Amino acid sequence: MGKRKKQHLDRVVQQLINIVGEREVLYLKEDLIAYECDGYTMAKGMPRAVVFVKSKEHVVEVVKCLNKEKIPYIARGAGTGLSGGATPLGGEVIISLVRMKRMLHLDLENRKAVVEPGYINLKLTQSISDKGYYYAPDPSSQYACTIGGNVAENSGGAHCLKYGVTTNHILGLEIVLPNGEIMEIGADGIPDQPGYDLLGLLTGSEGTLGIVTKITVKILKNPQGKKTVLAYYDDITDASQAVSDIISAGIIPAALEMMDAIAIEGVEAAAYPVGHPQDIAAFLLIEVDGIAAGIDDQIDEILTVCKRNNVREVKVARDEAERALWWANRKMGFGAMGAISPDYLVQDGVIPRTRLPEVLDQIAAISKRYELRIANIFHAGDGNLHPLILYDASVPGESERAAKAGSECLKVCADVGGSITGEHGVGIEKSAEMRFIFSDEEMAAQTDIRTVFNPEDILNPGKLFPQPGRCVEVKQEMKKVEV
Ligand SMILES: Cc1cc2nc3c(=O)[nH]c(=O)nc-3n(C[C@H](O)[C@H](O)[C@H](O)COP(=O)(O)OP(=O)(O)OC[C@H]3O[C@@H](n4cnc5c(N)ncnc54)[C@H](O)[C@@H]3O)c2cc1C
Repeated sequence: MGKRKKQHLDRVVQQLINIVGEREVLYLKEDLIAYECDGYTMAKGMPRAVVFVKSKEHVVEVVKCLNKEKIPYIARGAGTGLSGGATPLGGEVIISLVRMKRMLHLDLENRKAVVEPGYINLKLTQSISDKGYYYAPDPSSQYACTIGGNVAENSGGAHCLKYGVTTNHILGLEIVLPNGEIMEIGADGIPDQPGYDLLGLLTGSEGTLGIVTKITVKILKNPQGKKTVLAYYDDITDASQAVSDIISAGIIPAALEMMDAIAIEGVEAAAYPVGHPQDIAAFLLIEVDGIAAGIDDQIDEILTVCKRNNVREVKVARDEAERALWWANRKMGFGAMGAISPDYLVQDGVIPRTRLPEVLDQIAAISKRYELRIANIFHAGDGNLHPLILYDASVPGESERAAKAGSECLKVCADVGGSITGEHGVGIEKSAEMRFIFSDEEMAAQTDIRTVFNPEDILNPGKLFPQPGRCVEVKQEMKKVEV
Protein backbone atom coordinates (compact mmCIF):
# COMPACT_ATOMS: atom_id res chain seq x y z
CA MET A 1 0.00 0.00 0.00
CA GLY A 2 1.46 3.37 -0.98
CA LYS A 3 2.08 6.05 1.64
CA ARG A 4 -1.10 7.91 2.42
CA LYS A 5 -0.65 11.62 2.65
CA LYS A 6 -3.09 13.81 4.47
CA GLN A 7 -5.08 15.11 1.56
CA HIS A 8 -8.53 16.22 0.69
CA LEU A 9 -10.38 12.98 -0.07
CA ASP A 10 -12.80 12.55 -2.91
CA ARG A 11 -16.35 12.50 -1.51
CA VAL A 12 -17.03 8.93 -2.69
CA VAL A 13 -13.77 7.62 -1.23
CA GLN A 14 -14.64 9.24 2.10
CA GLN A 15 -18.03 7.50 2.11
CA LEU A 16 -16.41 4.14 1.33
CA ILE A 17 -13.96 4.68 4.20
CA ASN A 18 -16.90 5.43 6.48
CA ILE A 19 -18.39 2.03 5.58
CA VAL A 20 -15.34 -0.29 5.70
CA GLY A 21 -12.59 1.70 7.43
CA GLU A 22 -9.56 3.58 6.10
CA ARG A 23 -7.29 0.54 5.73
CA GLU A 24 -9.81 -1.20 3.46
CA VAL A 25 -9.90 1.43 0.70
CA LEU A 26 -7.22 2.12 -1.89
CA TYR A 27 -7.38 5.42 -3.73
CA LEU A 28 -3.80 6.54 -4.46
CA LYS A 29 -2.65 6.07 -8.04
CA GLU A 30 0.35 3.96 -7.04
CA ASP A 31 -1.97 1.55 -5.19
CA LEU A 32 -4.53 1.41 -7.98
CA ILE A 33 -2.09 0.43 -10.73
CA ALA A 34 -2.30 -3.25 -9.73
CA TYR A 35 -6.05 -3.14 -10.43
CA GLU A 36 -5.87 -1.68 -13.95
CA CYS A 37 -6.43 -5.10 -15.49
CA ASP A 38 -6.89 -8.80 -14.76
CA GLY A 39 -4.97 -11.62 -16.47
CA TYR A 40 -5.92 -10.16 -19.86
CA THR A 41 -3.30 -7.44 -20.08
CA MET A 42 -4.11 -5.96 -23.48
CA ALA A 43 -6.67 -3.53 -22.06
CA LYS A 44 -6.19 -1.41 -18.97
CA GLY A 45 -8.23 1.22 -17.18
CA MET A 46 -7.70 3.07 -13.91
CA PRO A 47 -10.33 2.48 -11.20
CA ARG A 48 -11.46 5.34 -8.98
CA ALA A 49 -10.89 3.27 -5.85
CA VAL A 50 -10.67 -0.31 -4.60
CA VAL A 51 -12.75 -1.25 -1.57
CA PHE A 52 -12.14 -4.47 0.39
CA VAL A 53 -15.39 -5.76 1.84
CA LYS A 54 -15.56 -8.29 4.66
CA SER A 55 -19.27 -9.11 4.82
CA LYS A 56 -22.45 -9.08 2.78
CA GLU A 57 -23.54 -6.09 4.86
CA HIS A 58 -20.47 -4.21 3.60
CA VAL A 59 -21.36 -5.17 0.03
CA VAL A 60 -24.93 -3.90 0.48
CA GLU A 61 -23.81 -0.58 1.95
CA VAL A 62 -21.11 -0.03 -0.66
CA VAL A 63 -23.53 -0.85 -3.49
CA LYS A 64 -26.17 1.52 -2.09
CA CYS A 65 -23.61 4.29 -1.72
CA LEU A 66 -22.33 3.87 -5.28
CA ASN A 67 -25.87 3.74 -6.65
CA LYS A 68 -26.69 6.99 -4.91
CA GLU A 69 -23.55 8.58 -6.34
CA LYS A 70 -24.13 6.97 -9.77
CA ILE A 71 -20.61 5.54 -9.78
CA PRO A 72 -20.22 2.25 -11.71
CA TYR A 73 -18.59 -0.66 -9.90
CA ILE A 74 -17.04 -4.07 -10.54
CA ALA A 75 -16.77 -7.17 -8.35
CA ARG A 76 -13.29 -8.65 -8.29
CA GLY A 77 -11.92 -11.91 -6.95
CA ALA A 78 -8.27 -12.83 -7.48
CA GLY A 79 -8.03 -11.01 -10.83
CA THR A 80 -6.89 -14.11 -12.73
CA GLY A 81 -9.65 -13.72 -15.33
CA LEU A 82 -8.43 -13.93 -18.92
CA SER A 83 -11.00 -11.79 -20.72
CA GLY A 84 -10.90 -8.45 -18.90
CA GLY A 85 -14.06 -9.10 -16.84
CA ALA A 86 -12.62 -7.35 -13.77
CA THR A 87 -10.81 -4.66 -15.76
CA PRO A 88 -12.13 -1.11 -15.32
CA LEU A 89 -13.01 0.94 -18.37
CA GLY A 90 -11.90 3.90 -16.25
CA GLY A 91 -13.39 5.43 -13.11
CA GLU A 92 -15.27 2.44 -11.64
CA VAL A 93 -14.96 1.41 -8.01
CA ILE A 94 -13.64 -2.13 -7.64
CA ILE A 95 -15.31 -4.14 -4.88
CA SER A 96 -12.74 -6.73 -3.91
CA LEU A 97 -14.15 -9.92 -2.37
CA VAL A 98 -10.79 -11.44 -1.41
CA ARG A 99 -11.27 -10.79 2.31
CA MET A 100 -14.55 -12.70 2.34
CA LYS A 101 -12.63 -15.97 2.33
CA ARG A 102 -14.11 -18.24 4.99
CA MET A 103 -15.68 -21.65 4.72
CA LEU A 104 -18.99 -21.11 6.51
CA HIS A 105 -20.26 -24.67 6.69
CA LEU A 106 -19.17 -28.18 5.76
CA ASP A 107 -21.77 -30.92 5.50
CA LEU A 108 -20.03 -34.15 4.50
CA GLU A 109 -23.15 -36.21 5.04
CA ASN A 110 -25.01 -34.23 2.39
CA ARG A 111 -21.83 -33.60 0.40
CA LYS A 112 -21.89 -29.85 0.32
CA ALA A 113 -19.91 -26.89 1.55
CA VAL A 114 -20.83 -23.25 1.96
CA VAL A 115 -18.09 -20.74 1.24
CA GLU A 116 -17.64 -17.01 0.93
CA PRO A 117 -16.83 -15.76 -2.60
CA GLY A 118 -13.15 -15.03 -1.90
CA TYR A 119 -12.47 -18.65 -0.89
CA ILE A 120 -9.66 -20.00 -3.08
CA ASN A 121 -10.65 -22.93 -5.28
CA LEU A 122 -7.77 -25.29 -4.42
CA LYS A 123 -8.14 -24.63 -0.69
CA LEU A 124 -11.51 -26.36 -0.75
CA THR A 125 -10.11 -29.66 -1.99
CA GLN A 126 -7.09 -29.31 0.30
CA SER A 127 -9.30 -28.79 3.32
CA ILE A 128 -11.44 -31.90 2.76
CA SER A 129 -9.10 -34.35 1.01
CA ASP A 130 -8.02 -36.03 4.26
CA LYS A 131 -11.69 -36.85 4.83
CA GLY A 132 -11.90 -38.48 1.39
CA TYR A 133 -13.66 -35.67 -0.52
CA TYR A 134 -12.83 -33.06 -3.17
CA TYR A 135 -14.29 -30.19 -5.19
CA ALA A 136 -14.25 -31.15 -8.87
CA PRO A 137 -13.90 -27.96 -10.99
CA ASP A 138 -10.16 -27.47 -11.27
CA PRO A 139 -9.12 -24.48 -13.40
CA SER A 140 -5.35 -24.43 -13.90
CA SER A 141 -5.36 -21.19 -11.88
CA GLN A 142 -6.98 -22.98 -8.94
CA TYR A 143 -4.11 -22.17 -6.55
CA ALA A 144 -5.14 -18.48 -6.81
CA CYS A 145 -8.62 -17.98 -8.28
CA THR A 146 -11.68 -17.58 -6.06
CA ILE A 147 -14.87 -19.61 -6.12
CA GLY A 148 -16.80 -16.33 -6.56
CA GLY A 149 -14.78 -15.67 -9.74
CA ASN A 150 -15.36 -19.29 -10.85
CA VAL A 151 -19.13 -18.82 -10.47
CA ALA A 152 -19.04 -15.55 -12.43
CA GLU A 153 -17.06 -17.15 -15.28
CA ASN A 154 -18.60 -20.63 -15.04
CA SER A 155 -15.03 -21.87 -15.01
CA GLY A 156 -13.91 -25.22 -16.29
CA GLY A 157 -10.73 -27.18 -15.89
CA ALA A 158 -8.93 -30.30 -17.01
CA HIS A 159 -11.22 -32.63 -15.04
CA CYS A 160 -14.46 -31.03 -16.25
CA LEU A 161 -14.79 -33.46 -19.18
CA LYS A 162 -16.30 -36.13 -16.95
CA TYR A 163 -17.54 -34.08 -14.01
CA GLY A 164 -18.89 -30.92 -15.64
CA VAL A 165 -17.99 -27.26 -15.19
CA THR A 166 -18.74 -24.94 -12.26
CA THR A 167 -22.46 -24.67 -13.01
CA ASN A 168 -22.83 -28.41 -12.44
CA HIS A 169 -21.44 -28.04 -8.90
CA ILE A 170 -23.36 -25.03 -7.58
CA LEU A 171 -26.32 -25.72 -5.29
CA GLY A 172 -27.11 -22.25 -4.04
CA LEU A 173 -26.03 -18.62 -4.22
CA GLU A 174 -26.55 -15.50 -2.17
CA ILE A 175 -26.35 -12.38 -4.30
CA VAL A 176 -26.40 -8.67 -3.70
CA LEU A 177 -28.35 -7.16 -6.57
CA PRO A 178 -27.41 -3.80 -8.09
CA ASN A 179 -30.26 -2.17 -6.12
CA GLY A 180 -28.70 -3.38 -2.86
CA GLU A 181 -31.26 -6.11 -2.19
CA ILE A 182 -30.09 -9.57 -1.14
CA MET A 183 -31.36 -12.53 -3.16
CA GLU A 184 -30.97 -16.21 -2.21
CA ILE A 185 -31.26 -18.72 -5.01
CA GLY A 186 -31.13 -22.49 -5.00
CA ALA A 187 -32.97 -24.71 -2.60
CA ASP A 188 -30.33 -26.06 -0.32
CA GLY A 189 -29.45 -28.97 -2.52
CA ILE A 190 -32.91 -29.83 -3.82
CA PRO A 191 -32.46 -30.30 -7.56
CA ASP A 192 -34.86 -28.99 -10.15
CA GLN A 193 -36.82 -26.26 -8.43
CA PRO A 194 -39.89 -25.06 -10.28
CA GLY A 195 -39.62 -21.83 -12.20
CA TYR A 196 -36.72 -20.31 -14.13
CA ASP A 197 -33.22 -21.69 -13.58
CA LEU A 198 -31.77 -18.62 -11.89
CA LEU A 199 -28.74 -20.53 -10.63
CA GLY A 200 -27.90 -21.37 -14.23
CA LEU A 201 -28.46 -17.77 -15.29
CA LEU A 202 -26.30 -16.28 -12.58
CA THR A 203 -23.49 -18.79 -13.05
CA GLY A 204 -21.46 -17.47 -15.96
CA SER A 205 -23.04 -14.02 -15.96
CA GLU A 206 -19.56 -12.49 -15.62
CA GLY A 207 -20.37 -10.20 -12.72
CA THR A 208 -23.02 -8.24 -14.65
CA LEU A 209 -26.18 -9.33 -12.77
CA GLY A 210 -25.21 -9.24 -9.11
CA ILE A 211 -22.37 -9.69 -6.62
CA VAL A 212 -22.10 -13.21 -5.24
CA THR A 213 -21.62 -13.16 -1.47
CA LYS A 214 -22.16 -16.83 -0.52
CA ILE A 215 -21.92 -20.07 -2.48
CA THR A 216 -23.12 -23.59 -1.69
CA VAL A 217 -21.12 -26.13 -3.69
CA LYS A 218 -21.30 -29.88 -4.19
CA ILE A 219 -18.36 -31.88 -2.96
CA LEU A 220 -17.57 -35.33 -4.29
CA LYS A 221 -16.15 -38.48 -2.76
CA ASN A 222 -12.60 -39.19 -3.94
CA PRO A 223 -12.60 -41.83 -6.68
CA GLN A 224 -11.43 -45.26 -5.55
CA GLY A 225 -8.84 -45.47 -8.29
CA LYS A 226 -7.10 -43.25 -10.81
CA LYS A 227 -4.59 -43.87 -13.59
CA THR A 228 -2.88 -41.44 -15.93
CA VAL A 229 -1.47 -42.00 -19.41
CA LEU A 230 0.97 -39.90 -21.43
CA ALA A 231 1.05 -40.48 -25.20
CA TYR A 232 3.57 -38.89 -27.58
CA TYR A 233 2.66 -38.33 -31.24
CA ASP A 234 4.67 -37.43 -34.35
CA ASP A 235 1.55 -36.25 -36.13
CA ILE A 236 -1.09 -34.01 -34.57
CA THR A 237 -3.81 -35.53 -36.79
CA ASP A 238 -3.09 -38.95 -35.26
CA ALA A 239 -3.33 -37.44 -31.77
CA SER A 240 -6.65 -35.77 -32.68
CA GLN A 241 -8.00 -39.02 -34.12
CA ALA A 242 -7.03 -40.83 -30.91
CA VAL A 243 -9.08 -38.27 -28.93
CA SER A 244 -12.16 -38.95 -31.09
CA ASP A 245 -11.63 -42.72 -30.95
CA ILE A 246 -11.35 -42.77 -27.14
CA ILE A 247 -14.66 -40.94 -26.76
CA SER A 248 -16.36 -43.02 -29.49
CA ALA A 249 -15.21 -46.18 -27.70
CA GLY A 250 -17.55 -45.11 -24.90
CA ILE A 251 -14.81 -44.17 -22.45
CA ILE A 252 -15.27 -40.85 -20.65
CA PRO A 253 -11.89 -40.08 -19.15
CA ALA A 254 -11.78 -37.72 -16.19
CA ALA A 255 -9.41 -35.61 -18.31
CA LEU A 256 -8.20 -35.70 -21.91
CA GLU A 257 -5.69 -32.94 -22.60
CA MET A 258 -3.45 -32.15 -25.55
CA MET A 259 -0.44 -29.88 -26.10
CA ASP A 260 1.29 -29.14 -29.38
CA ALA A 261 5.02 -28.73 -30.08
CA ILE A 262 5.30 -25.01 -29.23
CA ALA A 263 3.37 -25.50 -25.99
CA ILE A 264 5.71 -28.40 -25.12
CA GLU A 265 8.73 -26.17 -25.80
CA GLY A 266 7.23 -23.72 -23.25
CA VAL A 267 6.43 -26.18 -20.46
CA GLU A 268 9.81 -27.86 -20.77
CA ALA A 269 11.51 -24.47 -20.33
CA ALA A 270 9.41 -23.64 -17.24
CA ALA A 271 9.16 -24.75 -13.62
CA TYR A 272 8.10 -28.41 -13.93
CA PRO A 273 9.87 -30.03 -16.90
CA VAL A 274 8.96 -33.67 -17.46
CA GLY A 275 11.53 -34.44 -20.15
CA HIS A 276 9.01 -34.67 -23.00
CA PRO A 277 10.78 -35.30 -26.33
CA GLN A 278 11.29 -31.95 -28.07
CA ASP A 279 10.67 -33.30 -31.57
CA ILE A 280 7.11 -34.62 -31.13
CA ALA A 281 4.10 -32.89 -32.70
CA ALA A 282 1.81 -33.29 -29.67
CA PHE A 283 1.14 -35.22 -26.52
CA LEU A 284 -2.06 -36.45 -24.93
CA LEU A 285 -2.49 -36.55 -21.16
CA ILE A 286 -5.34 -38.88 -20.31
CA GLU A 287 -6.69 -39.68 -16.86
CA VAL A 288 -9.24 -42.32 -15.97
CA ASP A 289 -10.84 -42.55 -12.54
CA GLY A 290 -13.72 -44.28 -10.78
CA ILE A 291 -14.35 -47.69 -9.24
CA ALA A 292 -10.97 -49.40 -8.97
CA ALA A 293 -12.14 -52.63 -10.63
CA GLY A 294 -12.91 -51.03 -14.01
CA ILE A 295 -9.85 -48.86 -14.39
CA ASP A 296 -7.33 -51.32 -15.83
CA ASP A 297 -9.74 -52.35 -18.60
CA GLN A 298 -10.25 -48.72 -19.60
CA ILE A 299 -6.51 -48.11 -19.58
CA ASP A 300 -5.95 -51.17 -21.81
CA GLU A 301 -8.51 -49.86 -24.25
CA ILE A 302 -6.93 -46.39 -24.26
CA LEU A 303 -3.48 -47.88 -24.91
CA THR A 304 -4.92 -49.88 -27.83
CA VAL A 305 -6.54 -46.77 -29.32
CA CYS A 306 -3.31 -44.79 -28.95
CA LYS A 307 -1.30 -47.55 -30.68
CA ARG A 308 -3.83 -47.88 -33.47
CA ASN A 309 -3.29 -44.17 -34.12
CA ASN A 310 0.49 -44.44 -34.58
CA VAL A 311 1.58 -43.28 -31.14
CA ARG A 312 5.38 -42.96 -30.86
CA GLU A 313 5.46 -43.80 -27.15
CA VAL A 314 2.77 -44.29 -24.54
CA LYS A 315 3.21 -44.83 -20.81
CA VAL A 316 1.18 -45.05 -17.60
CA ALA A 317 2.31 -42.98 -14.59
CA ARG A 318 4.31 -45.27 -12.28
CA ASP A 319 3.22 -43.59 -9.06
CA GLU A 320 1.52 -40.53 -7.60
CA ALA A 321 4.74 -38.48 -7.77
CA GLU A 322 5.03 -39.02 -11.52
CA ARG A 323 1.33 -38.31 -12.06
CA ALA A 324 1.61 -35.09 -10.02
CA LEU A 325 4.61 -33.96 -12.08
CA TRP A 326 2.77 -34.55 -15.37
CA TRP A 327 -0.15 -32.49 -14.09
CA ALA A 328 2.01 -29.69 -12.70
CA ASN A 329 3.70 -29.51 -16.12
CA ARG A 330 0.32 -29.34 -17.87
CA LYS A 331 -1.21 -26.84 -15.45
CA MET A 332 1.85 -24.61 -15.90
CA GLY A 333 0.89 -24.40 -19.60
CA PHE A 334 -0.17 -20.74 -19.89
CA GLY A 335 2.41 -19.29 -17.50
CA ALA A 336 5.14 -21.31 -19.25
CA MET A 337 4.68 -19.20 -22.36
CA GLY A 338 6.54 -16.51 -20.43
CA ALA A 339 9.65 -18.71 -20.73
CA ILE A 340 9.60 -18.53 -24.54
CA SER A 341 7.93 -15.20 -25.32
CA PRO A 342 7.80 -11.72 -23.72
CA ASP A 343 3.98 -11.64 -24.02
CA TYR A 344 1.17 -13.98 -24.95
CA LEU A 345 -2.55 -13.78 -25.55
CA VAL A 346 -4.69 -16.76 -24.48
CA GLN A 347 -7.67 -17.57 -26.68
CA ASP A 348 -10.50 -19.87 -25.72
CA GLY A 349 -12.49 -21.31 -28.63
CA VAL A 350 -14.70 -24.38 -28.68
CA ILE A 351 -15.13 -26.67 -31.66
CA PRO A 352 -16.73 -30.01 -32.42
CA ARG A 353 -13.98 -32.52 -31.56
CA THR A 354 -14.03 -34.10 -35.01
CA ARG A 355 -13.05 -30.78 -36.67
CA LEU A 356 -9.78 -30.53 -34.71
CA PRO A 357 -7.32 -31.29 -37.55
CA GLU A 358 -8.83 -28.76 -39.98
CA VAL A 359 -9.12 -26.08 -37.27
CA LEU A 360 -5.48 -26.60 -36.35
CA ASP A 361 -4.51 -26.18 -40.01
CA GLN A 362 -6.39 -22.90 -40.12
CA ILE A 363 -4.76 -21.69 -36.90
CA ALA A 364 -1.37 -22.55 -38.41
CA ALA A 365 -2.30 -20.48 -41.47
CA ILE A 366 -3.26 -17.53 -39.21
CA SER A 367 0.07 -17.86 -37.43
CA LYS A 368 1.89 -17.67 -40.77
CA ARG A 369 -0.16 -14.74 -42.05
CA TYR A 370 0.37 -12.65 -38.91
CA GLU A 371 3.99 -13.81 -38.50
CA LEU A 372 3.34 -14.74 -34.87
CA ARG A 373 3.97 -18.13 -33.26
CA ILE A 374 0.81 -19.78 -31.89
CA ALA A 375 1.04 -22.57 -29.31
CA ASN A 376 -1.99 -24.78 -28.69
CA ILE A 377 -3.15 -26.24 -25.39
CA PHE A 378 -6.47 -28.02 -25.45
CA HIS A 379 -9.02 -29.61 -23.22
CA ALA A 380 -9.19 -31.93 -26.22
CA GLY A 381 -11.93 -34.19 -24.90
CA ASP A 382 -14.49 -31.41 -24.90
CA GLY A 383 -13.13 -29.55 -27.93
CA ASN A 384 -11.98 -26.52 -25.93
CA LEU A 385 -8.91 -25.00 -27.60
CA HIS A 386 -6.52 -22.48 -26.14
CA PRO A 387 -4.45 -21.00 -28.95
CA LEU A 388 -1.71 -18.97 -27.22
CA ILE A 389 -0.53 -16.16 -29.47
CA LEU A 390 3.06 -15.23 -28.70
CA TYR A 391 4.06 -11.61 -29.25
CA ASP A 392 6.25 -8.82 -28.00
CA ALA A 393 4.31 -5.78 -26.83
CA SER A 394 7.45 -3.64 -27.11
CA VAL A 395 7.50 -4.12 -30.90
CA PRO A 396 5.25 -1.46 -32.46
CA GLY A 397 2.10 -2.98 -33.95
CA GLU A 398 2.65 -6.47 -32.56
CA SER A 399 -0.04 -6.25 -29.84
CA GLU A 400 -2.60 -5.19 -32.44
CA ARG A 401 -1.51 -8.05 -34.75
CA ALA A 402 -1.84 -10.52 -31.87
CA ALA A 403 -5.35 -9.25 -31.04
CA LYS A 404 -6.42 -9.58 -34.68
CA ALA A 405 -4.91 -13.06 -34.98
CA GLY A 406 -6.80 -14.04 -31.80
CA SER A 407 -10.06 -12.75 -33.20
CA GLU A 408 -9.50 -14.73 -36.41
CA CYS A 409 -8.89 -17.91 -34.40
CA LEU A 410 -12.28 -17.38 -32.75
CA LYS A 411 -13.92 -16.81 -36.14
CA VAL A 412 -12.56 -20.16 -37.31
CA CYS A 413 -14.09 -21.84 -34.22
CA ALA A 414 -17.44 -20.11 -34.76
CA ASP A 415 -17.46 -21.04 -38.47
CA VAL A 416 -17.10 -24.78 -37.78
CA GLY A 417 -20.11 -24.66 -35.48
CA GLY A 418 -18.26 -23.95 -32.24
CA SER A 419 -18.11 -21.01 -29.87
CA ILE A 420 -15.90 -18.03 -28.97
CA THR A 421 -15.41 -19.08 -25.37
CA GLY A 422 -15.35 -22.35 -23.50
CA GLU A 423 -14.45 -21.19 -20.02
CA HIS A 424 -12.68 -17.82 -19.87
CA GLY A 425 -15.71 -15.67 -20.57
CA VAL A 426 -16.30 -12.77 -22.92
CA GLY A 427 -15.43 -9.79 -20.72
CA ILE A 428 -14.04 -6.86 -22.67
CA GLU A 429 -11.91 -9.00 -24.87
CA LYS A 430 -14.50 -10.86 -26.90
CA SER A 431 -17.59 -8.66 -26.72
CA ALA A 432 -17.20 -7.72 -30.40
CA GLU A 433 -16.79 -11.42 -31.29
CA MET A 434 -20.21 -12.20 -29.76
CA ARG A 435 -21.45 -11.22 -33.22
CA PHE A 436 -19.75 -14.30 -34.66
CA ILE A 437 -22.31 -16.51 -32.92
CA PHE A 438 -25.37 -14.39 -32.03
CA SER A 439 -27.77 -12.38 -34.17
CA ASP A 440 -28.84 -8.88 -33.12
CA GLU A 441 -32.16 -10.30 -31.89
CA GLU A 442 -30.44 -12.96 -29.77
CA MET A 443 -28.18 -10.36 -28.23
CA ALA A 444 -31.06 -8.00 -27.58
CA ALA A 445 -32.92 -10.80 -25.75
CA GLN A 446 -29.91 -11.37 -23.53
CA THR A 447 -29.23 -7.69 -22.83
CA ASP A 448 -32.91 -7.40 -21.84
CA ILE A 449 -32.15 -9.94 -19.10
CA ARG A 450 -29.25 -7.80 -17.92
CA THR A 451 -31.59 -4.81 -17.79
CA VAL A 452 -33.96 -6.68 -15.44
CA PHE A 453 -31.18 -7.20 -12.90
CA ASN A 454 -28.96 -4.24 -13.66
CA PRO A 455 -31.24 -1.56 -15.17
CA GLU A 456 -28.78 1.34 -14.92
CA ASP A 457 -25.91 -0.81 -16.25
CA ILE A 458 -24.00 0.34 -13.19
CA LEU A 459 -22.55 -3.10 -12.35
CA ASN A 460 -19.64 -4.04 -14.61
CA PRO A 461 -20.70 -1.87 -17.57
CA GLY A 462 -19.35 -2.52 -21.05
CA LYS A 463 -18.69 -6.23 -20.46
CA LEU A 464 -20.05 -9.37 -22.08
CA PHE A 465 -22.49 -7.88 -24.61
CA PRO A 466 -21.68 -5.14 -27.05
CA GLN A 467 -24.19 -2.38 -26.66
CA PRO A 468 -24.95 -0.74 -29.99
CA GLY A 469 -21.73 0.99 -31.01
CA ARG A 470 -20.44 0.53 -27.50
CA CYS A 471 -17.80 -2.16 -27.90
CA VAL A 472 -15.94 -0.08 -30.48
CA GLU A 473 -16.18 2.93 -28.22
CA VAL A 474 -14.93 0.88 -25.26
CA LYS A 475 -11.99 -0.51 -27.21
CA GLN A 476 -11.00 3.03 -28.21
CA GLU A 477 -11.36 4.30 -24.64
CA MET A 478 -9.20 1.42 -23.44
CA LYS A 479 -6.48 2.26 -25.94
CA LYS A 480 -6.19 5.74 -24.48
CA VAL A 481 -5.52 4.42 -21.01
CA GLU A 482 -3.23 1.57 -22.10
CA VAL A 483 0.15 1.77 -20.36
C1 LIG B 1 -2.60 -19.27 -15.49
C2 LIG B 1 -4.11 -19.26 -15.63
C3 LIG B 1 -4.76 -20.44 -15.90
C4 LIG B 1 -6.16 -20.46 -16.03
N1 LIG B 1 -6.78 -21.65 -16.26
C5 LIG B 1 -8.13 -21.68 -16.34
C6 LIG B 1 -8.80 -22.93 -16.56
O1 LIG B 1 -8.19 -24.00 -16.65
N2 LIG B 1 -10.15 -22.90 -16.67
C7 LIG B 1 -10.86 -21.74 -16.54
O2 LIG B 1 -12.08 -21.78 -16.64
N3 LIG B 1 -10.25 -20.56 -16.33
C8 LIG B 1 -8.91 -20.49 -16.22
N4 LIG B 1 -8.29 -19.29 -16.00
C9 LIG B 1 -9.09 -18.06 -15.92
C10 LIG B 1 -9.48 -17.60 -14.49
O3 LIG B 1 -8.61 -18.14 -13.52
C11 LIG B 1 -10.93 -17.97 -14.17
O4 LIG B 1 -11.79 -17.24 -15.02
C12 LIG B 1 -11.34 -17.70 -12.70
O5 LIG B 1 -12.61 -18.20 -12.45
C13 LIG B 1 -11.32 -16.23 -12.32
O6 LIG B 1 -11.45 -16.15 -10.91
P1 LIG B 1 -10.95 -14.85 -10.13
O7 LIG B 1 -11.22 -15.03 -8.70
O8 LIG B 1 -9.54 -14.54 -10.48
O9 LIG B 1 -11.93 -13.76 -10.75
P2 LIG B 1 -11.62 -12.31 -11.31
O10 LIG B 1 -10.62 -12.37 -12.42
O11 LIG B 1 -11.33 -11.39 -10.20
O12 LIG B 1 -13.04 -11.92 -11.92
C14 LIG B 1 -13.54 -12.60 -13.04
C15 LIG B 1 -14.96 -12.13 -13.33
O13 LIG B 1 -15.79 -12.52 -12.26
C16 LIG B 1 -16.45 -11.40 -11.68
N5 LIG B 1 -16.52 -11.68 -10.24
C17 LIG B 1 -15.50 -12.02 -9.43
N6 LIG B 1 -15.97 -12.26 -8.19
C18 LIG B 1 -17.30 -12.07 -8.24
C19 LIG B 1 -18.34 -12.15 -7.29
N7 LIG B 1 -18.12 -12.49 -6.02
N8 LIG B 1 -19.60 -11.86 -7.68
C20 LIG B 1 -19.87 -11.52 -8.96
N9 LIG B 1 -18.92 -11.41 -9.90
C21 LIG B 1 -17.66 -11.69 -9.54
C22 LIG B 1 -15.61 -10.20 -12.07
O14 LIG B 1 -16.39 -9.03 -12.11
C23 LIG B 1 -15.11 -10.62 -13.44
O15 LIG B 1 -16.07 -10.33 -14.40
C24 LIG B 1 -6.89 -19.25 -15.89
C25 LIG B 1 -6.22 -18.06 -15.60
C26 LIG B 1 -4.85 -18.06 -15.48
C27 LIG B 1 -4.17 -16.76 -15.18
